[in-house]
Amino acid sequence: MNPFMACIGGTAAYDLLREGAFVAQRLGPQRTPFGLSAPIYLCESRLGEFYFLSRHGESGYELVPSFVNYRANIYALKDRGVRAIVSWSETRALCHNYTIGHYVVASDVIDETHSRTHTFFENRGLGVVRQWPVFCPSLREALATTLTAENCQYKDHGVYVCIEGPRRETPAEAAKYASFGGQLLGMSLAPEVFLAKELQMCYASICYVASYAETGSEFRPFEQGRILDVAGQAARARAAVERLPRILERLCDVLRRTRGVCHCESSMQHHIASGQIGWDWRTWFELPAAPPQASPGPTSSGRAADVNSGFKPAVGRGAEVSADRSEIVPAAGSVRRFLSPRS
Ligand SMILES: [Zn+2]
Repeated sequence: MNPFMACIGGTAAYDLLREGAFVAQRLGPQRTPFGLSAPIYLCESRLGEFYFLSRHGESGYELVPSFVNYRANIYALKDRGVRAIVSWSETRALCHNYTIGHYVVASDVIDETHSRTHTFFENRGLGVVRQWPVFCPSLREALATTLTAENCQYKDHGVYVCIEGPRRETPAEAAKYASFGGQLLGMSLAPEVFLAKELQMCYASICYVASYAETGSEFRPFEQGRILDVAGQAARARAAVERLPRILERLCDVLRRTRGVCHCESSMQHHIASGQIGWDWRTWFELPAAPPQASPGPTSSGRAADVNSGFKPAVGRGAEVSADRSEIVPAAGSVRRFLSPRS
């Protein structure tokens, strides 16, 4: 059975993977109707498997947040059968209630981005989706349980302000975001969380506090009688990142035992009920025409074969689709086991 959980991480997390902190097999980028996704890895741990997607590519910060193909990334994970996405995100705190090196399970988002595509349904009148709860409550609870089990210092709430970047905020902007009710600053969660909702997936985020937002002063954190200098802040952030493999491993175990109460899998139900879209999510999108030379043609089952490692033009693993794409029959032995109201 394929993993049902995926982690989307940035460059610090990918560096860990590159250094061998994960047992991982590179699956590579995946072709989707929205272009190529970022590279995907299949990771193994003692307590379960999961996918890892490197948000910014494999060569440092080669893709700044404005140019990440968020739609392809979310689509590719959905295509692989992922139902729960955990975003691993660096953040800067807008107030001193958050400690550098500690974790935060984000509870809400203020979207201050302006150059990203925020929906799968451009010019289609779809994507009118309620944004409360913004993050999956069951997955957030599982993250909190995991961090507690790992003796991590964390807060179970925090309002994340997603800015466009790549430049950092000005002091006046930081003051504005704080006045909005923002508590953490980052560049990653929007539109990921909104796109995951459009594909009826559970999504939640673990943030780690790497520094404080720009204040326009030379203030340095003062803890336990000592000033925490820039090097001290970086060491704290690095220590937080290095616990990622252990946290994800533990999360695999926690999720197996989690009985979900969320409704993420029905977030598009109102559009389905009105007849605007069908209940098979794959029929919501136009598929790109494959080049004639590269097309392997239909298989004996009537389903077009893969065009690369993983992209399934029809219904994916664990199910078969009828020739007219109107009916999906669960494969023998497939069960719903995580974060479903029906589980
Ligand atoms: Zn959920």
